[in-house]
Amino acid sequence: MDTNGDTPGKAPTVSDTGKMDSKAAGMNPYVGLVSSLRTAWLTGKTRAAEHRVSQLEALRHFLDDKKQPILDAMASDMRKPPFEVELSEIILVKNEVNYALNNLSSWMKDEGVDKNLVTQLDTAFIRKEPYGVVLIIGPWNYPLQLILVPLVGAIAAGNCVIIKPSEISSSTEKLVAETLPSYLDKDCFAVVTGGPAEMTKLLENKFDYIFFTGSPQVGKIVMAAAAKHLTPLTLELGGKNPCYVADESDLQNVANRLVWGRCFNAGQTCIAPDYVLCSAETQEKLLPALRHAITQFFGPEPRESPDFARIISDKQFQRIRALLGSGRVAIGGQTDEKERYIAPTVLADVQPSEPAMQEEIFGPVLPIVTVPNVDEAIAFINSRERPLAVYVFASDSKLVRRVLERTSSGGFGANDPIMQMTLISLPFGGIGNSGLGSYHGKFTFDTFSHHRACLLRTMGLEPMNSLRYPPYSERKMGLVLSTFRIKRTGTCTLL
Ligand code: NAD
Repeated sequence: MDTNGDTPGKAPTVSDTGKMDSKAAGMNPYVGLVSSLRTAWLTGKTRAAEHRVSQLEALRHFLDDKKQPILDAMASDMRKPPFEVELSEIILVKNEVNYALNNLSSWMKDEGVDKNLVTQLDTAFIRKEPYGVVLIIGPWNYPLQLILVPLVGAIAAGNCVIIKPSEISSSTEKLVAETLPSYLDKDCFAVVTGGPAEMTKLLENKFDYIFFTGSPQVGKIVMAAAAKHLTPLTLELGGKNPCYVADESDLQNVANRLVWGRCFNAGQTCIAPDYVLCSAETQEKLLPALRHAITQFFGPEPRESPDFARIISDKQFQRIRALLGSGRVAIGGQTDEKERYIAPTVLADVQPSEPAMQEEIFGPVLPIVTVPNVDEAIAFINSRERPLAVYVFASDSKLVRRVLERTSSGGFGANDPIMQMTLISLPFGGIGNSGLGSYHGKFTFDTFSHHRACLLRTMGLEPMNSLRYPPYSERKMGLVLSTFRIKRTGTCTLL
């Protein structure tokens, strides 16, 4: 099995009942599949609460039954440690399934809204409606979590779904394509495999919603394809997440948390701390603490640690290795091309213009850029694209608030990286270059639901309605305004 990935060009496959008929479909091999899912959608079966519950339960069975194959596939793709797979690919998804099942009936309920004087006797509510046939496209770094967490919300919201896992994490892609469809209702859910060539064809079809996780570059391609059909979409993208470390921080705790965040999944995490900003003095104190944390976590020879993953592909390995020339290698720096191993590495005194500061690292390499103070750090962060996360380590809560108030990012973490995403009650998503829209927990359900504005009027009270009908008059205007007007409340002029 090819675990190196980055080898597009496989023939498109569709893991449902062979709906892909390229002859009948003309040039596009996915027309048949999309239209069969649309037919199923139009029957209304996915709208029923029982159907949603049964599919969510089936997803949980998939995770239970396939736990070992999942662990094996991810070991094959990037030697992901079983502990990390359980935590980030299995438990996290199961939590989402359980949370959705626990809350589905209340999420599905129509939401009553305030009414004005004219509509007092009517019924006004927001109905959470499924979009229809939606497409979920995933990346390779958390190849299961990042397709299944959106899938939970898409099912809960009552949609039909085509799932497109990344072709780069090929063992997981194969497992998903070969086994997931047999758990789900095949009329309504399908897995499509392939790389950019297949994606280009798939995206020619009209979907009712697209949920994409991946790079900003491909995000632009997906958004352009969606625009052709005016399809709404979510973009979960990447970028460089800054991490400011204040002088007075407890540096060993900082180092432990930074090394964990940077080295989990060998740094191939979209919300990992991408680089550190701190003073030159703090850098010198932080380096021995980082070295200590790395040795504590992975032993004197991290290559031999079973708890440290490998880089997904040769292409990614070459890209990350090329970044090691930035600044000076203060810790680590060892690489092994055969194994796609890159040691936990810290680059000190990195200049903002160097390669490590030009692109998302997406590997176990942590550059440190020195800045004189927090204001310079804030200016540095604000001079770059808005990231998925901004992190700050400081014992001074005022300083934490200052960074929070004066920067912008998808999420924010004080004194710990990544942990904000473990809260199902927080929306997860980017802003600007790091993405558009958010999900997790109820936010996923809302993402995959159209909020339909409904007003059910009575046929009575026509004299009241006649106030807005021509012929118009000053008197009618006065009466109409008094029924529609929203009065300003409160006395404070500043709020
Ligand atoms: P990618 O953009 O290369 O690929 C993502 C998906 O798009 C894959 O399924 C791939 O097959 C497809 N694709 C690739 N080229 C395409 C094309 N030309 N046209 C249409 N589809 C195409 O991303 P990746 O390398 O798999 O993942 C890494 C990126 O994803 C990083 O930037 C990372 O930060 C980001 N990411 C973001 C999040 C998040 O939640 N915001 C999570 C994980 C990863």
